[in-house]
Amino acid sequence: MRCQPDERLPVYSWLKNKQSCSLCDEPADTAQRLCSSCEAELPWLRGHCRVCALPLPDSGLVCGGCLQRPPSFDRVLAPWRYAFPIDSLITRFKHQAKWPLGRLLGELLSQHLGHAFDDGLARPDLLLPVPLADRRQRQRGFNQAALLALWLGEQLQLPAQARWLQRIGDTPAQQQLDAAARKRNLRRAFALSAESRVTGLHLALVDDVLTTGATAESLARLLKKAGAARVDVYCLARTPKPGD
Ligand SMILES: [Zn+2]
Ligand SMILES: [Zn+2]
Repeated sequence: MRCQPDERLPVYSWLKNKQSCSLCDEPADTAQRLCSSCEAELPWLRGHCRVCALPLPDSGLVCGGCLQRPPSFDRVLAPWRYAFPIDSLITRFKHQAKWPLGRLLGELLSQHLGHAFDDGLARPDLLLPVPLADRRQRQRGFNQAALLALWLGEQLQLPAQARWLQRIGDTPAQQQLDAAARKRNLRRAFALSAESRVTGLHLALVDDVLTTGATAESLARLLKKAGAARVDVYCLARTPKPGD
C-alpha cells in the first residue's frame, strides 16, 4: 500500500472495506466490522438510573445517589456497562491509539443516540468534549473525548467545540484518587475559555467512560453557572457501583 500522508484516510477506508469482525475475525455482516453475535454479546446497559445511567436492576428508576443529591447534569446516555470487552476496547483506543476501534465505538454510540433522539430525547445545540490536561494530552498525543465528539458530530450533524472547556493546571490522574479526593481536586480543575457562549444552550458533554460522575458534575455545574439551559452527558460506558 502506498504511504498515506493524510492519516485520516486509512481510518475511513478501513471502515468502508467490510472484511472481518474486529472482535472475533468472523465475516462481519454490518458496515461497522462487527459481526451480529459479537454485537449481541456486548455488555449493553439495560436497567439503569434515568438520570446518571448507573446500572440498576430495573429501568425507569432514579438511583439513591441522584435522589439524595440531584446532579448538575440532566441526563447521562451510555450504550454499555463498563465491562468486558468494552473496557479493553476503550483501553486500546485510549492508550494504544487504536483509532479504528475508537471510530467503531463512536459509530455505535451515534446509532444509540440517534435512536434516543427518534424516541424523543432532545437534540443538543452543541457537543463539548471533556478536556484533558495539556500534559496528559501531550503524552497521549490526542484527546479521546475530542475525537469521539468529532465523530459523533459528523454522524449526528451536531457542532462540537473542543476548546470551550479547559482544564486548568495538571490535576493528578483521577483514577488514582478516592471519591473525596477526586471532588476536591475537580472543584477548581476546569474553566470556560473566553470565546465560549453557553447562555441558553442545551449542551452535551462527551467522554469515554463515566465512573463516579465527579468530572461530569464539576463541568455541568460550571456550564449551568455560566447560563447553560441543559447539560447532558454522552459516553461510551458507565461503570457499575463499586462492588456490584
Ligand atoms: Zn464477531
Ligand atoms: Zn443516578
